[in-house]
Amino acid sequence: SKVPSITLNNGVAMPQLGFGVWQVEDDQAFTAVGQALEAGYRSIDTAAIYGNEEGTGKALAASGIARDELFVTTKLWNADQGHDATLRAFDASLTKLGLEYVDLYLIHWPLPSKDRYVETYQALEKIQAEGRAKAIGVSNFRPEHLERLLGETSVVPAVNQIELHPQFPQAESRAFHARHNIVTEAWSPLGQGKGLLEDPTIATLAAKHGKTPAQVVLRWHLQLGNVVIPKSVTPSRIAENIDVFDFELDDTDLAALAGLDTGKRIGPDPATFDMA
Ligand code: NAD
Repeated sequence: SKVPSITLNNGVAMPQLGFGVWQVEDDQAFTAVGQALEAGYRSIDTAAIYGNEEGTGKALAASGIARDELFVTTKLWNADQGHDATLRAFDASLTKLGLEYVDLYLIHWPLPSKDRYVETYQALEKIQAEGRAKAIGVSNFRPEHLERLLGETSVVPAVNQIELHPQFPQAESRAFHARHNIVTEAWSPLGQGKGLLEDPTIATLAAKHGKTPAQVVLRWHLQLGNVVIPKSVTPSRIAENIDVFDFELDDTDLAALAGLDTGKRIGPDPATFDMA
């Protein structure tokens, strides 16, 4: 495929660009994931809380694509943290997906107020040892949460999936990840399509390269070394978002994009988010 892979810290290859399905209903996920696979995506990012693991799994099966060419990520929801609850939730996710293993299993949020992410991660280590997840990692972990895992568990997370886009570029987390051989995966890579894609700086770069604003933003992520998982349910945009391997941003372009940092998140702060 035209999408390059990144090698995770345990040797597993992960496509650098995948397809996200947050806020996509189960039956719509069946259609959208089918369209994404048709367009050439091989990596799909879902989560138990998205309620679309079944539709996603059905689309994977219907595609006829060999299992070892697919990369499937799902996530443990907050209410299921704790060692035994995690093992049960993982079984439920696998059943819904109709798979014998996932490629990547993530803890969705750290919930530091509950203080259960260490034992939860130890359950993920067990799942990986059993071969039911090829790689394990976390999402929305800040460096202090990762420090605890590094100190108290054995498997270095392969990935940390965090909010990241030109308006919130997460320099500190990216540097921390790089030091510890953890891949940075960007969620809401397009800033959820709100505002960011209308930015005049991005419009100028899009015109310069003969690409769209979304393609410029995705290219920025790829050149930073991030894994990206843009979401769309519109077939033309699904195709557009994977058509980002025929141009390159230069240093001036990257400097212009660095000027968009607002320091403001769209989503919640992981240090305090405790929704279960
Ligand atoms: P995104 O940044 O991918 O933006 C998606 C939205 O942008 C679309 O709904 C559409 O409105 C617009 N869009 C998409 N392609 C476009 C194009 N080519 N041109 C114009 N507009 C376009 O937002 P997201 O869905 O929040 O993030 C992507 C994925 O990240 C999710 O689907 C999910 O898999 C993951 N995610 C994870 C977490 C987490 O806590 N781990 C949180 C949010 C999202």
